[in-house]
Amino acid sequence: MSLLSEYDSIHALQTALASKKLSATELAQEQLKQAQSAHALNAFTQLDSAYTLAQAKAADVLLAQPNAPVLAGIPIAHKDVFVTQQWRTTAGSKMLRNYVSPFDATVVERLAQVGTVSLGKLNCDEFAMGSDNQSSAFGPVHNPWHADYSPGGSSGGSAAAVAAGLVMAATASDTGGSIRQPAALCGISGIKPTYGTVSRYGMIAYGSSLDQAGPMARSARDLVELLSAMSGFDERDPTSLVQCAGQPNNGERIRQSFTHWHEQFQHNTSQPLAGVRIGVPQEFFANELESNVGAAVEQALQQLEKLGAQRVSVSLPLTRAAVAAYYVISPAEASSNLSRFDGVRFGHRAAEYSNLEEMISRSRAEAFGDEVIRRILVGTYVLSEGYYDAYYVQAQRVRRKIVEDFQQAFSQCDVLVGPVAPTLARPLNTPQADPTSDWQADIYTVGASLAGLPAMSVPCGFSSGTATLPIGLQLIGNYFNEGQLLALAERYQLHTDWHQRRPESK
Ligand code: GLN
Repeated sequence: MSLLSEYDSIHALQTALASKKLSATELAQEQLKQAQSAHALNAFTQLDSAYTLAQAKAADVLLAQPNAPVLAGIPIAHKDVFVTQQWRTTAGSKMLRNYVSPFDATVVERLAQVGTVSLGKLNCDEFAMGSDNQSSAFGPVHNPWHADYSPGGSSGGSAAAVAAGLVMAATASDTGGSIRQPAALCGISGIKPTYGTVSRYGMIAYGSSLDQAGPMARSARDLVELLSAMSGFDERDPTSLVQCAGQPNNGERIRQSFTHWHEQFQHNTSQPLAGVRIGVPQEFFANELESNVGAAVEQALQQLEKLGAQRVSVSLPLTRAAVAAYYVISPAEASSNLSRFDGVRFGHRAAEYSNLEEMISRSRAEAFGDEVIRRILVGTYVLSEGYYDAYYVQAQRVRRKIVEDFQQAFSQCDVLVGPVAPTLARPLNTPQADPTSDWQADIYTVGASLAGLPAMSVPCGFSSGTATLPIGLQLIGNYFNEGQLLALAERYQLHTDWHQRRPESK
């Protein structure tokens, strides 16, 4: 039984820490023990007890002061795409197996400043490319609900560690669904904010126009704490949203907006969501949607209606085309971002070569896995002369139209609600029939990524059958509406208990 299972929220844990019922050091020691004994999950790429305990000691000092930050002493861990000075940063790749960054990512720095205690680095698909964590050079992560199943990806280690009670929250990144999909498949909550809200500085790039960091935790309420601490303008990230003069920074904006909506929803006790229009995209309920996922999502929609929300049917006509556009744009950007791994400055270098060109090509061929190589090939092809207009430019046109379609939908509703993934977690070690068919499973998540919209996942049920596996509900908001999304999700979680379910003995 995890010590964390005694506390159902960050606030409850914070109360125990602040009242000295528990010290950050005791908690960190216990969680390190848990994380070590859960090695079969393969959620962590690295633990470093000495550093974790030093952070815990500093958190205890912070906790001894009045008004300690709410995250002081809270055990977390970072997806292994955020660079850290203390731990190696592998991005799940052989290429960076021994890489130690000379600086910390902004997200790592910000969460350390508010006293969180990091247990280490979390396994993920190689360079965050994948949907089931099987492309990691360090082996697949197992789903805490059933060890024979994948936790989803690419942030599978983050989702598994939270679901298994090893940490209270984790950082993750989402380029086309990598926060939402593993959160859904592991029965936890996760949010990808509006593009530009959280700094990408020190987050290893996959598709730079899509990459966005965000937190995973047990509940929407906990996500508010994490996201507001992680967010904010950062001059070291050129895509970071600038704070307008006289306006609160992004972290404060999210907190204020959440509080506003939280109070709004509290007014009418029997119908807290009265006046909220939830748009249900009809294209999210097509043939590929597994029946038990569809049934759980339908039940969640009914629950939201019971709380007073009004259901509106909307259309996102380019849902299917979004997958194609995403798998042109993201590999194109990846092929460019990954060109820096040439064995010259850092990363793996082949032992034998006879000239510079051979050194580069051998280093890359030896250190990149199949999925990453596939993306580099696709990306290079769609950017090459003669194909650029037909693929890359065309995909950008589709992207523009997707942005417009979302705005059309938001003229009819406040929030979009639907499934996160069409299927449940997949069994591990099933041979991959056709790699591109796996890409189709990103159908409901890539649209919000291409449009840069905030989107989140909350648990909404379980499958029935041989394995009990979690199902997630996706909520997509308009730009900067994280506060409303989180308050809506919180309201849903106050009336349901899916987010409180834990895998056995966790
Ligand atoms: N599954 C998607 C991909 O492989 C999304 C990954 C992500 O969001 N990092 O590109």
